[in-house]
Amino acid sequence: MFHCLSTHSRKQQLIVSGTPRPQNTDSMGSIAFPSLPYRPPGQVLPTTQWGHVFRSQGETIELKQIPVGKPGPDEVLVQIEYSGVCHTDLHAWKGDWPVAPKSNLVGGHEGVGLVAAIGSQVRDLRIGDTVGIQWVNRTCGICEFCAAGNQPLCPQLQLSGYTVDGTFQQYTICKADNAIRIPPGIALEEAAPVLCAGITVYKALKESNVQPGQIIAIVGAGGGLGSLACQYAKACGHKVLAISSGAAKRAMCLYDLGADYFVDYKSSNMTEEVKQVTGGGPHAAMIVSSVEEPFHQAAKYIRPGGTIVVVGLPPGGMTTDFFSLVTQKISVKGSYVGNRTETEEALAIIVRSGFRVQFNVVDFAELPKTYELMETGQMKGRTVLKIGKDASGYPDRRSQFFGDTSPVRYNNEAKGYVSGALGQAIDKAGRDFRSDTVTVPTEPVMQAIINASTFGDDIYDEGGDPAVNAFQDKIKALTGKEAALFVLSGTQGNQICLRTHLHQPPHTILLDYRAHVQTWETGAIPLLSQATVTGVEPKNGVHLTLDDIKDRIVEENNFHFPPTRIVSLENTLGGSILPLRDAREISNYVRNVRVPPGRPRIAMHLDGARLLEAVTAERVDIKEYLSYFDSASICLSKGCGAPMGSVIVGTKEFIDRTIWFRKMFGGATRQTGMMAAAASAALDHNLPLLPEVHARTRRVADYLRRIGYEFLMPVDTNMIVLDLKKMGIPGDAIVEYCKKQGLYTFPSGRLAFHHQISDDGISRLQKALMELMTDRRRF
Ligand SMILES: *Cc1c(COP(=O)(O)O)cnc(C)c1O
Ligand SMILES: [Zn+2]
Ligand SMILES: [Zn+2]
Repeated sequence: MFHCLSTHSRKQQLIVSGTPRPQNTDSMGSIAFPSLPYRPPGQVLPTTQWGHVFRSQGETIELKQIPVGKPGPDEVLVQIEYSGVCHTDLHAWKGDWPVAPKSNLVGGHEGVGLVAAIGSQVRDLRIGDTVGIQWVNRTCGICEFCAAGNQPLCPQLQLSGYTVDGTFQQYTICKADNAIRIPPGIALEEAAPVLCAGITVYKALKESNVQPGQIIAIVGAGGGLGSLACQYAKACGHKVLAISSGAAKRAMCLYDLGADYFVDYKSSNMTEEVKQVTGGGPHAAMIVSSVEEPFHQAAKYIRPGGTIVVVGLPPGGMTTDFFSLVTQKISVKGSYVGNRTETEEALAIIVRSGFRVQFNVVDFAELPKTYELMETGQMKGRTVLKIGKDASGYPDRRSQFFGDTSPVRYNNEAKGYVSGALGQAIDKAGRDFRSDTVTVPTEPVMQAIINASTFGDDIYDEGGDPAVNAFQDKIKALTGKEAALFVLSGTQGNQICLRTHLHQPPHTILLDYRAHVQTWETGAIPLLSQATVTGVEPKNGVHLTLDDIKDRIVEENNFHFPPTRIVSLENTLGGSILPLRDAREISNYVRNVRVPPGRPRIAMHLDGARLLEAVTAERVDIKEYLSYFDSASICLSKGCGAPMGSVIVGTKEFIDRTIWFRKMFGGATRQTGMMAAAASAALDHNLPLLPEVHARTRRVADYLRRIGYEFLMPVDTNMIVLDLKKMGIPGDAIVEYCKKQGLYTFPSGRLAFHHQISDDGISRLQKALMELMTDRRRF
């Protein structure tokens, strides 16, 4: 039949005179399309919505108000967040296909969103689940094709955006059995193009019957489908021969897509070249290009017994030499889209292997413009329309540090463990959102402990323990500070630093009124350092700025007031970043406050328990950040994943002095080498995972925002702080709802993410919080 694959381009003139006028324009000048926030369950759904409609083929596409459908007993209504745009949508509109679509059609068949309503017979989908709607919208479920997993061949097949309305509207209906379950670990906008482009090439790969280690030729590897095909083939363990043309495509295929071989289809003896580089021809060839010639070429170079899978639709028919087809046992197959299970496999492969789908997101209203670019061949990669809108009306609680750049994907199932008990602990950590301190040591960390066989005495041995020294040297190199000292905890690190800076009362420490050193360290400051504190509330509600502290500094000129000796900052605080710019401004100011002759200038201390999270997310240089501070304490047992310990940094003179207080505060330990070695291995292992942890945190935050949650702080790093008070949700309720799902949370509404949080943990969390939101009115 006909489908979404790349087709022979018919150079038709596109009529875009009917480009919809934007309904209104926001202050930024961009189109404020009439988007709707997701309505949490219990709220009444709207009866009308916006959608792109055309009356019949070739007629103007209009963005207009249309009714919201009601799902039948076995159907779901999905509020679409994103929809990819496929060539088939263009052809449906332009009338390039042999069969005409329904009239007054809403196109689109790569849509993802949240279930907004379910039919009475739907059992395994719930309101709020993230699902996708693809080409196969409805199948009978019982015919011989459906029974054999060949749903796309079902005689009663209904097609999204062709025979039924598709995903270029705010609410789309689909049979529940055909809705794709979107796993966590992939952004919704990234999942959208997988629903057609991704599954098309993944299904073709399956049809090719190529085995792991065997070679598959991807013909048209440089294009959108081809590049996806190369990556799927690599992820499934095949060797890839990329066939395309030109030096740029060659570099892209070999270096970006990881192809094993490259042959230029324009080279004069290309079939011979293919046979030569592949040692007798590829075992299979997937043809995604839409010209005829590559098919004839493939028939010549394919390995005897091999399979040619045709995905592209060249014009005209197929002529081939039956003699070689028969005697060489060559199969030629057409491949169509996959079924639901296969699409879910295609999504899972991306989550697991971490390759990136190329796409760009544009406004919902820009569909006609997108078609124009596709028609004129100017489209690069896949275009995804943004249709949904965030529920939260608090833009000041949005992170400024978004930007999901190719994070290292982690595989939270494959981590080795050394014992059954540890395995169970890792499993539990996967569902534990109380703190990022709950991570358990991974096998490399345990191994490092065993290997740190020096077991020196860090106190008695001259020069200290070699493993401790090696670790401290590593921290010096990382932070650019002159000296580093391993301490037992963050509290100990902070209090040692503060005590070391302070010489003779009276004195005061200026800090954020929420600062850990003041509020969470058992009142240590007045006891250990005889200092008072001046707590400041940041005007922006998130972090301190120079403006907040300028006139709160007490200079040493009036004996009524204890002079400020330390300004203590915290990054991150509640998961939110104190940006580099503000740290620099504060530091420059504080360091230039005049002090009487002979007095040290006011010290800058940083409680950098999660500094590594902060500088990773803000993408700033940790050395520069720390250059604005005289001392800092960095936790190793949080996101870094060390079993225990913190480290403090400063000048050599300062750290030499802290050693006295470490001893005095009970922190001078003996065979510390194994703990330092564990921390060192944990840093190596876990620091590269932080961007992915942050990306996953943001995805959950996006989800929660859509279903109506509000946040106390911007979600910049690995924490979500819910504003329970504002939403009227009691803290106990969140604990109770999460517990029902086997999750661990605190009643504060803070959810901490770390590298051991599992996909399953995230699914359960979303489920629990959706349920809580649904029942909210009961509290
Ligand atoms: C965790 C933390 C600390 C230190 O806590 P310990 O439990 O003593 O290691 C210090 N400051 C902040 C901001 C923290 O989050
Ligand atoms: Zn398609
Ligand atoms: Zn059927």
